Amino acid sequence: MQARIAVGGIEHETCGIAADSAELASTPLAEFEGKTRRGVELEGLGQANTIVDGFVKGVRECGLQLVPLMWVDAITGGPASRATFETVTSELLARLRQALPVDGVLLSLHGSFAADGIDDADGAILAAVRVLVGRECPVMAVHDLHCNLPAKWPRPPMF
Ligand SMILES: [Zn+2]
Repeated sequence: MQARIAVGGIEHETCGIAADSAELASTPLAEFEGKTRRGVELEGLGQANTIVDGFVKGVRECGLQLVPLMWVDAITGGPASRATFETVTSELLARLRQALPVDGVLLSLHGSFAADGIDDADGAILAAVRVLVGRECPVMAVHDLHCNLPAKWPRPPMF
């Protein structure tokens, strides 16, 4: 039986120094929703030079079963509102929950995502994914090179 690999991402490069700029003070939900690919829309990927395309291509090349979740790529901006964070994250988690069981999870997370009251939104996403898939399921996230890696993040095998 083919191993089932869930693929998705929530990419937001939160810029905390933009708080004085009205247009960048907060990244609205529309910025996330306008660049969201869901489920089967991910199945057509694999050709472009993005992390998620690489995931899709790699899963196929390894003879694994692609389990497409969703991929959000919002423009750089200020922290998202708590409601925006919860809307975007809850959809990813709902899709993963519906796809269970999976044998692995590949996520593209920028590594600097923050929302009101959540300085480490990427860590919150990873923690929620871990709760869903359990301790034995490999979860891998790719971050941008200038990401934040909080010292409090559990190290493998937690993530
Ligand atoms: Zn970046």
